[in-house]
Amino acid sequence: TRSIPAMIRSERPTISFEFFPPKDDAAESQLWQAIRHLEKLAPSFVSVTYGAGGSTRDRTVRVTGRIAQETSLTAMAHLTCVGSSVTELRSVVGHYAAVGIRNILALRGDPAGGLGTPWTAHAEGLDHADELVTLVRGLGSFTVGVAAFPDGHPESGDLAEDAATLIRKERAGAQFAITQMVFDVDNYLRLRDELARRGSRLPVVPSIMPITNARQVIRMAQLAGQPMPSAVTERLDRHGEDAAGVRAEGIEIATESARRLLDEGAPGIHFITMNRSSAALEVHANLGVHATL
Ligand code: FAD
Repeated sequence: TRSIPAMIRSERPTISFEFFPPKDDAAESQLWQAIRHLEKLAPSFVSVTYGAGGSTRDRTVRVTGRIAQETSLTAMAHLTCVGSSVTELRSVVGHYAAVGIRNILALRGDPAGGLGTPWTAHAEGLDHADELVTLVRGLGSFTVGVAAFPDGHPESGDLAEDAATLIRKERAGAQFAITQMVFDVDNYLRLRDELARRGSRLPVVPSIMPITNARQVIRMAQLAGQPMPSAVTERLDRHGEDAAGVRAEGIEIATESARRLLDEGAPGIHFITMNRSSAALEVHANLGVHATL
């Protein structure tokens, strides 16, 4: 298999899946069931998130390491600057390397007080994700990705600032970006085109989260400071309390968005799975694509 940046730059789309570290044994067995189902699709790579405030450090290391060691999958671990000194960040990267993880998504993380409270860096830590990119690239032969915000980062003034932030991370050594959940394909295209206009060559992989539970997704979007477009909520609202109807509509919305993103030349689709395989499997089947490896 090639490196994640090489797969993302290839002709064929990447297909990737995102998981979060489970908090107990029951959640862990559910995660492994999802991993084993999705592994059959031979995805390009999978990733594991890092909890708010670094709260899941050990679990992220353990789960991502197990994926790297016990499955055929290429694994990427997320990492944030929140609440950590540079020494601690170096040590986490060392733990990643020790369990065979060579791919890191370098993030700043949300402020410790939650979104909407001011960001304050750890006294001996890093202020922005571009500094974490520099740190990780300096520690060895890691591939490094970063976050992108087609709907605008909540602390960012406008599209120009979001593009400038991404270009700063690209100059620091980021090799690709992955977006927040995409509900409005036009916003993704606008950010991508603005990057190209500024001479950036950073590939930006859009994330899709198939909606299976409307309340859950609306809450996640609120937590991320990302309003859901009314075009989406209106389609879900039509089904009222009919859970099966909402789910089918959610799969259809995700399929339409993913298909349009790929038709428009997006380098791949990153599925946010919530540690369950069925919705991602359905959307993947609807798309009829094979992941590049
Ligand atoms: P930065 O790139 O540092 O940007 C943060 C803000 O600062 C932006 O408004 C930017 O414009 C501004 N900025 C950036 N650099 C500078 C600079 N040098 N000078 C001045 N201003 C600057 N969070 C988690 O806790 N765990 C996860 O696992 C996780 N995974 C994620 C995965 C994806 C794909 C995405 C899109 C987000 C993820 N997040 C995760 C959320 C992310 O940590 C937050 O959105 C955070 O607020 C921003 O992180 P960033 O890496 O984009 O930060």
